Amino acid sequence: MRIDLHAHSNISDGTEAPAAVMAAAAAAGLDVIALTDHDSTDGWAEASRAAVENGVALVPGMEISCRTDQGISVHLLSYLHDPTHEGLLDEITKAKDARLTRAERMVTLLAEDYPLSWDDVIHHVAPGATLGRPHIADALVAAGVVADRSEAFTSILTSHSRYFVQHYAPEPALAVELVRAAGGVPVFAHPVASARGRVVGERTYREMIDAGLAGLEVDHRDNPEEGRDFLRRLAAKHGLLMTGSSDYHGTGKPNRLGEYLTTPEVFARIEELGSGTPVVR
Ligand code: AMP
Ligand code: FE
Ligand code: FE
Ligand code: ZN
Repeated sequence: MRIDLHAHSNISDGTEAPAAVMAAAAAAGLDVIALTDHDSTDGWAEASRAAVENGVALVPGMEISCRTDQGISVHLLSYLHDPTHEGLLDEITKAKDARLTRAERMVTLLAEDYPLSWDDVIHHVAPGATLGRPHIADALVAAGVVADRSEAFTSILTSHSRYFVQHYAPEPALAVELVRAAGGVPVFAHPVASARGRVVGERTYREMIDAGLAGLEVDHRDNPEEGRDFLRRLAAKHGLLMTGSSDYHGTGKPNRLGEYLTTPEVFARIEELGSGTPVVR
């Protein structure tokens, strides 16, 4: 069984519609794929239909952007939660709304130095999608300022850039708690991805574990090898599940479907633990 539990569609910052991601998953020889758009479950319905048509099993999921009290970014994957759970829905709605204001502020700052307008950015966003820096990157690519999203992220759009603006995001332990309350399975995404920015220390792990964290995404291209060893030891010590996934974004990132996989045993545990919505087969 080939199982990949982390992929994005154009409901957030992937470049393909949910149905196309399911078709791509089948073409990549996957048996199980999770759709984990940032702060949104709006792709689940379309993905469910397409998963059945393409003969892949779909794990409905989401990736929640969080921030610690020290300002460190944490991404939390949620699998099989109830998409109508009020507490969780309130948090992601708040974050999604804040992302809109934040993107407007970033574009205003960028427009002082680059040929960029709000319309240029919106052109790259599917209706209702979760807005992020990748969409601003797409507009900068179209304007000829950078060659691709990766170049935008290493230059103009880093979190140290003078154009960077933060948005509201829940604390990681709160997000873990809400995912559990919604019957979901919370897994810490790419926890040691140091190239993306500062990574969390022991206290944040402890708070997330105390709140009900179920697993760690160990095998991910952004986790350096020595960090993966640390994660394996942590998982063993606290009885956490270990996953591996691609973090596919279509043509938005080099990550390829199935480049890292999760074992059937871990997938079975996730399916047992999740009670908010079923795996679609
Ligand atoms: P935001 O949540 O709007 O601050 O933007 C962060 C998102 O940008 C993450 O979810 C990543 O998927 C994406 N991202 C980060 N680094 C890169 C990169 N080098 N190339 C393309 N996308 C990236
Ligand atoms: Fe993303
Ligand atoms: Fe992420
Ligand atoms: Zn992701």
